Amino acid sequence: MASMLAWAVAEPGGRGGERLRREHRPLPEPGPGDLLVRVRASGVCRTDLHVVMGDLPPHRSPVVPGHEVVGEVSDVGEAVAGWRTGERAGIAWLRHTDGTCVYCGRGAENLCPASRYTGWDADGGYAEYAVVPADYAYRLPDGYPDERLAPLLCAGIIGYRALRRSDLPPGGRLGIYGFGGSAHLAAQVAMAEGARVHVMTRSPAAQELALALGAASAQGAADPPPERLDAAILFAPAGELVLPALEALDRGGTLAVAGIHLSDIPPLDYDWHLFQERTLRSVTANTRSDGREFLAFAQAHPLHIETVAYPLSDADAALTDLFEDRVNGAAVLIP
Ligand SMILES: [Zn+2]
Ligand SMILES: [Zn+2]
Repeated sequence: MASMLAWAVAEPGGRGGERLRREHRPLPEPGPGDLLVRVRASGVCRTDLHVVMGDLPPHRSPVVPGHEVVGEVSDVGEAVAGWRTGERAGIAWLRHTDGTCVYCGRGAENLCPASRYTGWDADGGYAEYAVVPADYAYRLPDGYPDERLAPLLCAGIIGYRALRRSDLPPGGRLGIYGFGGSAHLAAQVAMAEGARVHVMTRSPAAQELALALGAASAQGAADPPPERLDAAILFAPAGELVLPALEALDRGGTLAVAGIHLSDIPPLDYDWHLFQERTLRSVTANTRSDGREFLAFAQAHPLHIETVAYPLSDADAALTDLFEDRVNGAAVLIP
Protein backbone atom coordinates (compact mmCIF):
# COMPACT_ATOMS: atom_id res chain seq x y z
CA MET A 1 0.00 0.00 0.00
CA ALA A 2 1.22 3.50 -0.82
CA SER A 3 2.29 5.56 2.17
CA MET A 4 2.77 9.23 2.78
CA LEU A 5 4.57 11.59 5.11
CA ALA A 6 2.30 13.30 7.64
CA TRP A 7 2.66 15.24 10.89
CA ALA A 8 0.27 14.43 13.71
CA VAL A 9 -0.42 15.74 17.18
CA ALA A 10 -1.32 12.95 19.56
CA GLU A 11 -1.24 14.66 22.91
CA PRO A 12 -1.60 18.43 22.87
CA GLY A 13 0.71 20.54 24.98
CA GLY A 14 4.25 21.87 24.75
CA ARG A 15 5.19 24.98 22.87
CA GLY A 16 5.22 25.60 19.15
CA GLY A 17 5.87 22.47 17.11
CA GLU A 18 7.27 20.36 19.97
CA ARG A 19 4.29 18.01 20.06
CA LEU A 20 4.13 17.34 16.33
CA ARG A 21 5.15 13.82 15.45
CA ARG A 22 6.41 12.81 12.04
CA GLU A 23 4.67 9.71 10.69
CA HIS A 24 4.37 7.52 7.67
CA ARG A 25 0.75 6.65 7.09
CA PRO A 26 -1.27 4.93 4.40
CA LEU A 27 -2.86 7.29 1.89
CA PRO A 28 -6.32 8.42 3.09
CA GLU A 29 -9.23 6.94 1.15
CA PRO A 30 -11.93 9.25 -0.19
CA GLY A 31 -15.53 8.36 0.72
CA PRO A 32 -18.27 8.52 -1.91
CA GLY A 33 -18.69 12.31 -1.55
CA ASP A 34 -15.02 13.15 -1.12
CA LEU A 35 -12.03 14.31 -3.11
CA LEU A 36 -8.55 12.96 -2.50
CA VAL A 37 -6.13 15.86 -2.94
CA ARG A 38 -2.40 15.64 -3.49
CA VAL A 39 -1.10 18.52 -1.37
CA ARG A 40 1.08 21.07 -3.16
CA ALA A 41 1.09 23.74 -0.45
CA SER A 42 -0.29 23.86 3.07
CA GLY A 43 -0.44 27.04 5.11
CA VAL A 44 0.52 27.21 8.78
CA CYS A 45 -2.15 29.09 10.71
CA ARG A 46 -2.18 30.33 14.29
CA THR A 47 -5.15 28.04 14.90
CA ASP A 48 -2.83 25.08 14.28
CA LEU A 49 -0.80 26.33 17.24
CA HIS A 50 -3.96 26.41 19.37
CA VAL A 51 -4.70 22.80 18.33
CA VAL A 52 -1.16 21.60 18.98
CA MET A 53 -0.81 23.40 22.32
CA GLY A 54 -4.23 22.33 23.60
CA ASP A 55 -5.82 25.82 23.72
CA LEU A 56 -8.57 24.18 21.67
CA PRO A 57 -9.82 20.91 23.20
CA PRO A 58 -8.76 17.87 21.15
CA HIS A 59 -11.51 16.59 18.83
CA ARG A 60 -9.55 13.74 17.29
CA SER A 61 -6.34 12.07 18.32
CA PRO A 62 -3.96 11.80 16.66
CA VAL A 63 -4.92 14.54 14.23
CA VAL A 64 -3.00 15.96 11.28
CA PRO A 65 -3.26 19.77 11.50
CA GLY A 66 -3.50 22.16 8.57
CA HIS A 67 -6.53 23.81 6.97
CA GLU A 68 -5.10 25.98 4.20
CA VAL A 69 -4.49 23.29 1.64
CA VAL A 70 -3.85 23.82 -2.04
CA GLY A 71 -3.53 20.72 -4.15
CA GLU A 72 -4.47 18.72 -7.14
CA VAL A 73 -7.43 16.37 -7.18
CA SER A 74 -6.00 12.88 -7.52
CA ASP A 75 -9.14 10.81 -6.91
CA VAL A 76 -12.86 11.56 -6.93
CA GLY A 77 -15.50 9.70 -4.86
CA GLU A 78 -18.19 7.93 -6.88
CA ALA A 79 -21.00 10.27 -5.74
CA VAL A 80 -19.13 13.48 -6.62
CA ALA A 81 -20.27 15.55 -9.58
CA GLY A 82 -18.40 18.53 -10.99
CA TRP A 83 -14.81 17.69 -10.06
CA ARG A 84 -12.23 15.87 -12.13
CA THR A 85 -8.79 14.52 -11.36
CA GLY A 86 -6.01 16.97 -12.16
CA GLU A 87 -8.02 20.06 -11.17
CA ARG A 88 -6.68 22.47 -8.58
CA ALA A 89 -8.70 22.48 -5.35
CA GLY A 90 -8.54 24.26 -2.01
CA ILE A 91 -9.35 22.77 1.40
CA ALA A 92 -10.27 25.17 4.18
CA TRP A 93 -11.28 25.07 7.86
CA LEU A 94 -15.02 24.37 7.53
CA ARG A 95 -15.68 20.87 6.16
CA HIS A 96 -19.16 19.88 7.40
CA THR A 97 -22.44 21.42 8.55
CA ASP A 98 -25.81 19.70 8.97
CA GLY A 99 -27.72 22.04 6.66
CA THR A 100 -30.84 21.54 8.81
CA CYS A 101 -30.40 23.60 11.99
CA VAL A 102 -31.79 27.07 12.62
CA TYR A 103 -28.40 28.68 11.91
CA CYS A 104 -27.86 26.85 8.62
CA GLY A 105 -31.43 27.78 7.73
CA ARG A 106 -30.70 31.49 8.00
CA GLY A 107 -27.42 31.40 6.12
CA ALA A 108 -25.19 31.31 9.22
CA GLU A 109 -23.67 27.88 8.70
CA ASN A 110 -20.55 29.15 10.47
CA LEU A 111 -22.58 28.85 13.70
CA CYS A 112 -23.85 25.32 13.00
CA PRO A 113 -23.44 23.24 16.21
CA ALA A 114 -22.75 20.17 14.07
CA SER A 115 -19.94 21.83 12.11
CA ARG A 116 -16.64 20.02 11.65
CA TYR A 117 -13.24 21.45 10.87
CA THR A 118 -10.21 20.39 8.89
CA GLY A 119 -7.13 19.78 11.00
CA TRP A 120 -9.20 19.51 14.19
CA ASP A 121 -12.10 17.08 13.61
CA ALA A 122 -10.50 15.51 10.55
CA ASP A 123 -6.97 15.18 9.23
CA GLY A 124 -5.62 18.21 7.42
CA GLY A 125 -2.84 19.38 5.21
CA TYR A 126 0.43 18.75 7.09
CA ALA A 127 0.75 15.70 4.85
CA GLU A 128 1.29 14.67 1.27
CA TYR A 129 -2.40 13.88 0.72
CA ALA A 130 -5.67 15.01 2.29
CA VAL A 131 -9.35 14.22 1.85
CA VAL A 132 -12.15 16.78 1.70
CA PRO A 133 -15.93 16.51 1.18
CA ALA A 134 -16.38 17.84 -2.37
CA ASP A 135 -19.17 20.19 -1.24
CA TYR A 136 -16.64 22.01 0.96
CA ALA A 137 -13.75 22.18 -1.54
CA TYR A 138 -13.01 25.50 -3.22
CA ARG A 139 -12.13 26.42 -6.76
CA LEU A 140 -9.12 28.72 -6.65
CA PRO A 141 -8.34 31.96 -8.48
CA ASP A 142 -5.91 31.88 -11.41
CA GLY A 143 -2.66 33.79 -11.54
CA TYR A 144 -1.30 32.84 -8.12
CA PRO A 145 1.32 30.17 -7.40
CA ASP A 146 0.20 27.38 -5.00
CA GLU A 147 2.34 28.74 -2.17
CA ARG A 148 0.62 32.14 -2.31
CA LEU A 149 -2.87 30.66 -2.54
CA ALA A 150 -2.58 28.64 0.67
CA PRO A 151 -2.90 31.57 3.12
CA LEU A 152 -6.00 32.79 1.29
CA LEU A 153 -7.90 29.72 2.47
CA CYS A 154 -8.05 30.61 6.16
CA ALA A 155 -6.14 33.80 6.83
CA GLY A 156 -7.72 35.39 3.78
CA ILE A 157 -11.27 34.15 4.23
CA ILE A 158 -11.37 34.88 7.98
CA GLY A 159 -9.85 38.30 7.44
CA TYR A 160 -12.51 38.97 4.82
CA ARG A 161 -15.33 37.91 7.15
CA ALA A 162 -13.84 39.96 10.00
CA LEU A 163 -13.74 42.98 7.72
CA ARG A 164 -17.41 42.50 6.82
CA ARG A 165 -18.28 41.97 10.52
CA SER A 166 -16.53 45.23 11.40
CA ASP A 167 -19.23 47.13 9.48
CA LEU A 168 -16.67 49.47 7.95
CA PRO A 169 -18.58 52.13 6.01
CA PRO A 170 -17.49 52.90 2.40
CA GLY A 171 -14.40 55.12 2.45
CA GLY A 172 -14.17 54.67 6.23
CA ARG A 173 -11.30 54.63 8.71
CA LEU A 174 -10.23 51.13 9.74
CA GLY A 175 -7.87 50.15 12.58
CA ILE A 176 -6.10 46.80 12.40
CA TYR A 177 -4.57 45.41 15.62
CA GLY A 178 -1.93 42.77 14.92
CA PHE A 179 -0.52 42.39 11.42
CA GLY A 180 0.10 38.76 10.48
CA GLY A 181 -1.19 36.57 7.67
CA SER A 182 -4.88 37.38 8.03
CA ALA A 183 -4.48 41.09 8.73
CA HIS A 184 -2.27 41.86 5.75
CA LEU A 185 -4.89 40.37 3.42
CA ALA A 186 -7.89 42.07 5.07
CA ALA A 187 -5.99 45.39 4.91
CA GLN A 188 -5.58 45.02 1.15
CA VAL A 189 -9.26 44.25 0.63
CA ALA A 190 -10.22 47.30 2.72
CA MET A 191 -7.80 49.58 0.84
CA ALA A 192 -8.96 48.26 -2.55
CA GLU A 193 -12.46 49.29 -1.44
CA GLY A 194 -11.32 52.79 -0.55
CA ALA A 195 -10.74 52.58 3.22
CA ARG A 196 -8.01 54.43 5.11
CA VAL A 197 -6.17 51.81 7.17
CA HIS A 198 -4.20 52.31 10.40
CA VAL A 199 -2.12 49.39 11.67
CA MET A 200 -1.17 48.77 15.31
CA THR A 201 1.49 46.12 15.85
CA ARG A 202 4.54 45.63 18.05
CA SER A 203 6.65 44.23 15.20
CA PRO A 204 8.79 46.81 13.34
CA ALA A 205 8.95 44.51 10.29
CA ALA A 206 5.15 44.22 10.22
CA GLN A 207 4.84 48.01 10.57
CA GLU A 208 7.14 48.38 7.57
CA LEU A 209 5.09 45.87 5.54
CA ALA A 210 1.87 47.70 6.45
CA LEU A 211 3.22 50.99 5.15
CA ALA A 212 4.62 49.34 2.01
CA LEU A 213 1.15 47.92 1.29
CA GLY A 214 -0.38 51.38 1.56
CA ALA A 215 -1.51 51.74 5.17
CA ALA A 216 -2.02 55.37 6.21
CA SER A 217 -0.08 54.83 9.44
CA ALA A 218 1.62 52.16 11.51
CA GLN A 219 2.37 52.30 15.25
CA GLY A 220 2.86 50.22 18.38
CA ALA A 221 0.40 47.50 19.41
CA ALA A 222 -1.60 49.61 21.87
CA ASP A 223 -0.80 53.10 20.54
CA PRO A 224 -3.64 55.42 19.56
CA PRO A 225 -4.05 55.78 15.78
CA PRO A 226 -3.72 59.32 14.37
CA GLU A 227 -7.50 59.62 13.87
CA ARG A 228 -10.69 58.10 15.28
CA LEU A 229 -11.81 54.84 13.71
CA ASP A 230 -15.15 53.87 12.18
CA ALA A 231 -14.24 50.21 12.59
CA ALA A 232 -11.45 48.07 13.98
CA ILE A 233 -10.43 44.44 13.77
CA LEU A 234 -8.41 42.73 16.50
CA PHE A 235 -6.26 40.00 14.94
CA ALA A 236 -3.70 39.67 17.76
CA PRO A 237 -4.85 37.00 20.29
CA ALA A 238 -4.33 39.53 23.09
CA GLY A 239 -7.44 40.38 25.12
CA GLU A 240 -5.78 43.43 26.69
CA LEU A 241 -5.79 45.12 23.26
CA VAL A 242 -9.61 45.18 23.29
CA LEU A 243 -9.39 48.26 25.54
CA PRO A 244 -7.20 50.53 23.41
CA ALA A 245 -9.07 49.35 20.28
CA LEU A 246 -12.46 50.32 21.78
CA GLU A 247 -10.99 53.64 22.94
CA ALA A 248 -9.84 54.39 19.40
CA LEU A 249 -13.36 53.94 17.95
CA ASP A 250 -15.44 56.92 16.99
CA ARG A 251 -19.07 57.09 18.16
CA GLY A 252 -21.03 54.20 16.68
CA GLY A 253 -17.89 52.30 15.72
CA THR A 254 -17.48 48.53 15.79
CA LEU A 255 -14.62 46.35 17.00
CA ALA A 256 -14.59 42.82 15.55
CA VAL A 257 -12.41 40.23 17.29
CA ALA A 258 -11.14 37.90 14.56
CA GLY A 259 -9.36 35.21 16.58
CA ILE A 260 -10.70 31.80 17.56
CA HIS A 261 -8.82 32.17 20.83
CA LEU A 262 -8.26 35.33 22.88
CA SER A 263 -6.57 35.83 26.23
CA ASP A 264 -8.78 37.34 28.95
CA ILE A 265 -10.22 40.78 28.31
CA PRO A 266 -9.58 43.12 31.27
CA PRO A 267 -12.62 44.84 32.84
CA LEU A 268 -14.21 47.47 30.60
CA ASP A 269 -15.27 50.90 31.72
CA TYR A 270 -18.74 51.37 30.29
CA ASP A 271 -18.46 55.13 29.63
CA TRP A 272 -14.95 55.02 28.34
CA HIS A 273 -15.05 51.86 26.21
CA LEU A 274 -18.63 51.11 25.12
CA PHE A 275 -21.05 54.01 25.56
CA GLN A 276 -21.92 56.10 22.45
CA GLU A 277 -23.08 52.91 20.76
CA ARG A 278 -19.74 51.35 20.21
CA THR A 279 -20.05 47.63 19.43
CA LEU A 280 -17.77 44.76 20.41
CA ARG A 281 -18.37 41.52 18.50
CA SER A 282 -16.68 38.24 17.69
CA VAL A 283 -16.05 36.51 14.39
CA THR A 284 -16.67 32.77 14.30
CA ALA A 285 -15.26 30.72 11.42
CA ASN A 286 -16.88 31.50 8.07
CA THR A 287 -19.55 30.38 5.67
CA ARG A 288 -18.78 28.87 2.28
CA SER A 289 -20.23 31.95 0.67
CA ASP A 290 -17.67 34.11 2.56
CA GLY A 291 -15.01 31.87 1.06
CA ARG A 292 -16.34 32.06 -2.48
CA GLU A 293 -16.82 35.85 -2.26
CA PHE A 294 -13.29 36.36 -1.01
CA LEU A 295 -11.72 34.07 -3.61
CA ALA A 296 -13.66 35.92 -6.33
CA PHE A 297 -12.29 39.18 -4.89
CA ALA A 298 -8.77 37.73 -5.07
CA GLN A 299 -9.38 36.81 -8.71
CA ALA A 300 -10.48 40.36 -9.54
CA HIS A 301 -7.89 42.22 -7.40
CA PRO A 302 -4.37 40.74 -7.39
CA LEU A 303 -3.37 40.51 -3.72
CA HIS A 304 0.15 40.77 -2.42
CA ILE A 305 0.72 37.72 -0.24
CA GLU A 306 3.80 37.46 1.97
CA THR A 307 4.78 33.83 2.43
CA VAL A 308 7.75 32.01 3.88
CA ALA A 309 8.15 28.49 2.46
CA TYR A 310 9.24 25.53 4.60
CA PRO A 311 9.64 21.97 3.35
CA LEU A 312 6.91 19.69 4.74
CA SER A 313 9.66 17.84 6.60
CA ASP A 314 10.21 21.00 8.70
CA ALA A 315 6.59 21.47 9.81
CA ASP A 316 7.60 21.43 13.48
CA ALA A 317 10.15 24.20 12.90
CA ALA A 318 7.58 26.29 11.02
CA LEU A 319 5.11 26.03 13.89
CA THR A 320 7.78 26.88 16.43
CA ASP A 321 8.81 29.93 14.38
CA LEU A 322 5.18 31.06 14.34
CA PHE A 323 4.98 30.54 18.12
CA GLU A 324 8.13 32.64 18.61
CA ASP A 325 6.84 35.35 16.27
CA ARG A 326 9.66 34.86 13.80
CA VAL A 327 7.58 34.61 10.61
CA ASN A 328 6.87 37.83 8.72
CA GLY A 329 3.90 36.93 6.54
CA ALA A 330 2.48 33.41 6.35
CA ALA A 331 4.43 30.18 6.71
CA VAL A 332 3.60 27.60 4.02
CA LEU A 333 4.64 23.94 3.96
CA ILE A 334 5.68 22.52 0.60
CA PRO A 335 5.70 18.70 0.28
ZN1 LIG B 1 -26.48 23.57 10.92
ZN1 LIG C 1 -6.68 29.15 10.19
